[in-house]
Amino acid sequence: MKTLFRAFASIVSASPADKTGSLGETGIFGGILGHGEPLRVDSVVFRYGKREILRGVSFEVPPGCVFAILGPNGSGKTTLLRCLNQILMPTSGQVCLGKHDLLKMCPERRAKLVAYAPQRTVSSGLTVFDSVLLGRLPHRTWNSGRTDEQKVRDVLARLDLTEKALRPLDTLSGGELQKAALARVLAQEPRLILLDEPTSALDWKNRTEILRLLRRIAREDGVSILLTIHDINDALRHADRLLLLKNGEAAAEAAPEDMAETRLSEVYGLPIRIHEIQGMRTAFVQE
Ligand code: ADP
Repeated sequence: MKTLFRAFASIVSASPADKTGSLGETGIFGGILGHGEPLRVDSVVFRYGKREILRGVSFEVPPGCVFAILGPNGSGKTTLLRCLNQILMPTSGQVCLGKHDLLKMCPERRAKLVAYAPQRTVSSGLTVFDSVLLGRLPHRTWNSGRTDEQKVRDVLARLDLTEKALRPLDTLSGGELQKAALARVLAQEPRLILLDEPTSALDWKNRTEILRLLRRIAREDGVSILLTIHDINDALRHADRLLLLKNGEAAAEAAPEDMAETRLSEVYGLPIRIHEIQGMRTAFVQE
């Protein structure tokens, strides 16, 4: 993960042709694929009172993987992410990142490994720069100030937020706020990134750029990225694996090229078809 910011710096200075999402021979981020550790989620159950929200969810995310969690509203996507970050404590089950048992880890240690951006970012009078600098808190030492600030500048540049650095968060648009939240997560340099609907407020261009960037970070730095997402086509194009949640259960898990129309149709209760358009699997609802 230490290469993340070197990577950002190299991307910032890269030619436009380098920013298309295709990887060169050595990769823009320096290529340490596989350097991270797998996330193992085993039989996670979560209840609000007597109501079971997650019913024994299990899956594994290899390092370097963008793992998209899809499912209808209320199927448990946000609850699952919160359980992975211990904002909610699972009723039972295990969550391990490599050899680290995340459920038993103290918050300070966990913050060095796991970063989470919620669906709704709290807007405040804090500037973008200061809010992103908060992402450095888990790593701060008495003399790390300059390095931390440089890392924040690098992340802001990569996300095209440099001009907004001194703007208070409460003056940003929904999409800008979402990018600022993502910047804070990246500044944290975690091994596991959890993003709850990171693209919901972004326009098409920003959405595409952010999803491409996430994929590069995952591949080049061996970071595992879990995100919840509603757009099936974005998930088919930009994720390495998909998990379909239905009523708190894992209804299907597959690579995008293997995700069956029938599974999507069952989970969403709609006749969903997938056609290949210009070499890309594209989902739509059959009218
Ligand atoms: P999703 O992210 O897939 O839309 P959520 O994880 O937000 O689903 O919610 C799953 C279920 O848990 C929903 O039925 C929701 O109403 C319920 N739920 C969420 N938060 C709470 C809460 N604080 N108390 C009780 N039930 C909740």
